Amino acid sequence: MTAAHTGGCRCGAVRFEASAEPHHVSYCHCGDCRRASGAPVSAFVGFITEQVAFTGKALKMFENGPVTRSFCGICGSPIAYVDERLADHIYFMLGAMDMPAYFKPTHHAHVREQLPFVHMPDDLPRYLKTSVPRPDGTQS
Ligand SMILES: [Zn+2]
Ligand SMILES: [Zn+2]
Repeated sequence: MTAAHTGGCRCGAVRFEASAEPHHVSYCHCGDCRRASGAPVSAFVGFITEQVAFTGKALKMFENGPVTRSFCGICGSPIAYVDERLADHIYFMLGAMDMPAYFKPTHHAHVREQLPFVHMPDDLPRYLKTSVPRPDGTQS
């Protein structure tokens, strides 16, 4: 059994724990993540939803089409997103993890929307759109 991976928001009102290893760690360059995070590029750590537990009552949700993003209602830190087309998965902001250096991204997604001055000189695979095709075949 592996140790739990924990994380939370800036103020500590939202805490979560994942009981298994992530199945996904990636950068996302899409404009929607950029708006939601305020940062030029985001990174996400994906777990199976049933392996994740939240504590605290401060978690708020913002629904935008099939994607629901969560954040701390007290300090505003972005926490995670879920996509109803990927029902069993939850993707945490890499920066919300307590040990962010443990989660090394394995690829870049949505590089078509990458900002022209963002240069990340690694050899990771790059996907023009999403790296996780939705079951209905959409790629956005
Ligand atoms: Zn908070
Ligand atoms: Zn994105």
